[in-house]
Amino acid sequence: MLHEEFEKIRQTAPESLIVTTGECRFCGTEIDVEIPAICLDMDGKREEVATELCGCAESKTYAAKKKKKERTYERIEKLFGSESQKPLPAHKAKVLHDAVDPIVEYDIASIAVDFGNGTKAKMKMTSKGAVQVKRIDTNEYCAEI
Ligand SMILES: [Zn+2]
Repeated sequence: MLHEEFEKIRQTAPESLIVTTGECRFCGTEIDVEIPAICLDMDGKREEVATELCGCAESKTYAAKKKKKERTYERIEKLFGSESQKPLPAHKAKVLHDAVDPIVEYDIASIAVDFGNGTKAKMKMTSKGAVQVKRIDTNEYCAEI
C-alpha cells in the first residue's frame, strides 16, 4: 500500500514529506495526506493515498483488494521468486503474478500451472477470502532398460 510506504519514509526521513490534500477516487472527499515532496507532481500519488485512506465503502473494498493482491505477490515471490530456495525463471513466475488480478477481481475460483520438471503451482480463493498459493515439487525417477 502506498500510504504504508510513505509511513516508512516518515520514520526515517520525515523532512522529505509534505502535507497536502488528495481526493478520493470514488467519493471525491478531500483528505489530508502526507507524501514525499518529490511525488507532489506525480500523477495520481495524492489521489492513491487519499483513496487508500478515505474509508468510504468503495475505498474500503478497493484497499482490501489491493492489500490482498500485494500479499499474494509476496507469497508468490517467497515460493517461486528470488526469495525461494528453488526460484523459477522470472518469465515463468510472471504467469502467477498475472493470475492474481483475475482471481481477486473476478472471483476465479482457482488456477493450476504445470511449469514442467515436476514443479506445479495452485492458487485459489479460500472460503475466508484469502488467496492461497501452493507450490508442489515432485521428483520422479524412472529407469528404462
Ligand atoms: Zn472515498
